[in-house]
Amino acid sequence: MTSYEKLLLENKAWANEKVEDDPQYFDRLAHLQTPEFLWIGCSDSRVPANEITGTQPGEIFVHRNIANMVVHTDVNLLSVLDYAVNHLKVQHVIVCGHYGCGGVKAATTNHDFHLVLNMWLRNIKDVYRLHADELNAISNEDQRVDRLVELNVQEQLIHLAKTSIIQRAWKYYQRPHLHGWVYGLKDGLIKPLIDMLPRTAIDPLYNYDDL
Ligand SMILES: [Zn+2]
Repeated sequence: MTSYEKLLLENKAWANEKVEDDPQYFDRLAHLQTPEFLWIGCSDSRVPANEITGTQPGEIFVHRNIANMVVHTDVNLLSVLDYAVNHLKVQHVIVCGHYGCGGVKAATTNHDFHLVLNMWLRNIKDVYRLHADELNAISNEDQRVDRLVELNVQEQLIHLAKTSIIQRAWKYYQRPHLHGWVYGLKDGLIKPLIDMLPRTAIDPLYNYDDL
């Protein structure tokens, strides 16, 4: 059996198991999606949102990219955010990074990863530059990367708060609550780092006063 055939076989077993436990399981899910959470995580295969939070299909709306970035020109991320906030009406948006992130580590090197990856990683280099004094003072390389992982989560959360999507929802609906978390590959535990309640103050330059 090939590796992908095994995926299809496992899928059959999983679907059968779900129906055995609860005959209405798929009927219910097919008609309703009301997740309370939007998850913005890393594409890393070791950080599956549902599995590490013990949640089921239907509970978390998920967007993943390399190093859990919120890039202002990323139509994909912004569409997901708009849909989650304005249509699914999520109460919480979680940006979850992870220690040992290969994308973050790559951004600390001077290696040429070629056009598209270089373009993506430059967003992380910008985070490094903002916090260069603190990061350059950390001599251990792994510790420096892990601190950059935390600072990157913090910056991406602030990027969310800069969007008119979030600011409008904060103003009119007093949601969503933004959370910055970091997952540990070595112990499987999530560390909550920072959070932003609706209408948390940000740099006034980024405020829209005529929403
Ligand atoms: Zn990663």
